[in-house]
Amino acid sequence: MNTLTQQHKQDLHQLLQAFGLSGHTPLSNWIAGSARAGDGAAITLTDPVTGEALLDYNDAGAALVSQAVAGAQKGQAEWMKLSASERGRRMLQALSGLQGREEDLAKLESLVAGKPIRDCRAEVAKVREMFEYYAGWCDKQHGLVIPVPTSHLNYVHRVPYGVVGQITPWNAPMFTCAWQLAPAIAAGNAVVLKPSELTPFTSIVIAACLEKAGLPEGLINIVNGLGPTTGSALTGHQEIAKLVFVGSPGSGRLIAQAGAQRLVPTVLELGGKSANIIFEDACLDEAVAGAQAAIFGAAGQSCVAGSRLLVQESLLEAVCERLAKACPRIQVGLPSSPETQMGPLQNGRQHQHVSRMIRDAVNDGATIVTGGGLPQGLPTEAQSGYFVAPTVLRNVTPSMEIAQEEVFGPVVVVMPFTDEQHAISLANSTRFGLAGAVWTQNVARGHRVARQLRVGTVWVNSYKSISVMSPFGGFGESGYGRSSGTEGLQEYTLPQSIWVETAEKASIAMGYGSGD
Ligand code: NAD
Repeated sequence: MNTLTQQHKQDLHQLLQAFGLSGHTPLSNWIAGSARAGDGAAITLTDPVTGEALLDYNDAGAALVSQAVAGAQKGQAEWMKLSASERGRRMLQALSGLQGREEDLAKLESLVAGKPIRDCRAEVAKVREMFEYYAGWCDKQHGLVIPVPTSHLNYVHRVPYGVVGQITPWNAPMFTCAWQLAPAIAAGNAVVLKPSELTPFTSIVIAACLEKAGLPEGLINIVNGLGPTTGSALTGHQEIAKLVFVGSPGSGRLIAQAGAQRLVPTVLELGGKSANIIFEDACLDEAVAGAQAAIFGAAGQSCVAGSRLLVQESLLEAVCERLAKACPRIQVGLPSSPETQMGPLQNGRQHQHVSRMIRDAVNDGATIVTGGGLPQGLPTEAQSGYFVAPTVLRNVTPSMEIAQEEVFGPVVVVMPFTDEQHAISLANSTRFGLAGAVWTQNVARGHRVARQLRVGTVWVNSYKSISVMSPFGGFGESGYGRSSGTEGLQEYTLPQSIWVETAEKASIAMGYGSGD
């Protein structure tokens, strides 16, 4: 075992201890207010920096999922005994549980997910922001009074589903966890959340810290394990009233099928193949910097990654030249270093997938502008890790796999377009529809093009800005339903219409006699 792995094992052990999660085997579940170990098969976590084994924990399995759901039912009943304002106050109060633990939480995420520490610190701050935002909504979810044409008072109010099942991926575990937890509980639900088996711990820490500081026991439950075992026990559980899934389109189909089987609704937040469009009237310095931020942030393991760079023909050479110079300057290195801008990919399977896609693209005729292999300057001990250099490919045609399929790694294809209509049709030519961007100094063009992109989020002269206040979600195979904003909140309630007869004699209004 190399010394970096040894160090990381030690750091992980200390962090789990600090968060009360170390036991005979790691306590990898948070169920009805207690940390519990799983008792299913062992799951091995691998160090993204070295590719060596880091830690084993046990799959939760169906029995623990059932206990989590039972705990959630009790937690939800307690939660709904509180007034809406009190629920909002408790959500804010719960944040005190994270106070002073932010740095450890960021380190834990960085260690297991392989993400640069500076990104993890920013994501901890986002967790706070999400709870603060939705805490404010607890007592502002007003109903409606409908002026029905009868003598009834008809009003509509919103009812929580009860217990919601959430499933999240490995690329931004604590961000995605808070992104879904906060609106779900603000709307009055309890949650059983299954993080990716590859990044099990930060979601538990968030749940445990928040519950201990003010939320009812059982309101948030975290179960860890594989999709086909723990995941399908959750999606198939008869008391789960709604499923919210963030992950790949392939698994999304399975979740939607599981929901359809029991006739429960699903929200799917899936992958993307987002187009980042640079027009010849763009500010080139900004656009080239934006193109790098769009794809190389999180080593491209971002659902909104700008993985297709569409460039107006006249700028193609200039953009490729600039990227060829800029990309080797990106700081690729150890996630624990504060200077690191890009770390490794999170896991070996993803590393193989990304490497295979680059190889096949080149075999299909693409040319490498920069990158394509291991980055320069890595410490020897990290050379067996899951690093891929920032990679730019050109001579890619729209029908090639690399232009159509999600890479989910630091790989961007540069493709030329002739005019506005050509750019729009290229941008809309994949089955995905998550995000996109337009770089232009012509404000009318910015708006015009943005509105013709069939995607859930468009940036103009920017990339990747995201806020809990604004709705997020996909078109096409990027999924359906929305997270965040008021739309995200609405996903967690059902409207209930109540009719109260105000006529003196309801029997007359209904047209039947009383039988007396
Ligand atoms: P994945 O689909 O392999 O796994 C996601 C989650 O689903 C994991 O927790 C996994 O254990 C679980 N799962 C898998 N099979 C299951 C089953 N049969 N039943 C229940 N659960 C099951 O995805 P991933 O590789 O972890 O994440 C990468 C993908 O996530 C990419 O496609 C990325 O674009 C997408 N993503 C989307 C968003 C978004 O908001 N749209 C955000 C982040 C990531």
